Amino acid sequence: MVGSSRRRFLQAGASCAGHLALASALAPAAARALWAQQPMGRVVRTEPFGRLEQVADGVWALVSTPLGGDYTTVSNGGLIAGRDGVLAVEGLMTPEGARWLAGQSRALTGRWPTHVAITHYHADHVAGVAGYRADGAQPVVHATGETVDRVLAALPPTPLPADEARREALAQVVAPDGGAATIDLGGRRVRLVRRRGHTASDVSVEVDDPSIVFTGDLVWNGMFPNYVDAAPTELAAAVQALRRSRTTTYVPGHGAVAVDADVARYLDMLGRWSAPRGPPTCAARHPPPPRPRSRCLRR
Ligand SMILES: [Zn+2]
Repeated sequence: MVGSSRRRFLQAGASCAGHLALASALAPAAARALWAQQPMGRVVRTEPFGRLEQVADGVWALVSTPLGGDYTTVSNGGLIAGRDGVLAVEGLMTPEGARWLAGQSRALTGRWPTHVAITHYHADHVAGVAGYRADGAQPVVHATGETVDRVLAALPPTPLPADEARREALAQVVAPDGGAATIDLGGRRVRLVRRRGHTASDVSVEVDDPSIVFTGDLVWNGMFPNYVDAAPTELAAAVQALRRSRTTTYVPGHGAVAVDADVARYLDMLGRWSAPRGPPTCAARHPPPPRPRSRCLRR
């Protein structure tokens, strides 16, 4: 599985997956250290590709750790459980990864995910969505129309090869295109909020009690984000908009689970890379690791 996952990982070369690969190549020890931070929650499962942390009652964060060479999952994700249903966050990189997360849902809650929320169209967040449909399951998939259109049309930067199972999984998507949508899981309501900045089609997944925000790739904890589709000024504004004044757990798109100080540091980093210099074209992190200049990508 590692071999085939690696192939799919490399197919997504211009996406966040490729960005992580570049960061790893430039500063392997520093990059791996990003995921070695102390878990914020209670770790309930550890795999070569990631760990599942309980961050609140009925809420778990998947923190992917792909730099060891297992790309079953690459982006973060998670599970949010209510009395009547479970929402899985992200379609993830591979069907195997989605099926694994769904299996964790069954083990932890007794229920296969009833809903799936996809935060944007990059391959590492959506390519594996068909894995939730194992054994005839048909969870309701929530994603923007633009996300679905771009995935099915195989548009850059992540032109995924055609896949009938993925197409079927995305055939009847519920779109929060009106600005926001609410999913009632029974005693727990989850809001999907339309945003833009990392791409033109971002969604954050938000819980109010306790206060938890799954940010998608609007926030990368401890590393510089992939700018391939980003609008830098919109990105900073979107991050500021999803930030909360009360104590909040942030599950970033990549990196360890974060608190407000981490988000503040990330915003500060975005600001320092903004005009007049513009965003860097080489992967970076905060604080910047030593890296060979000769390996920077230049536009
Ligand atoms: Zn992304």
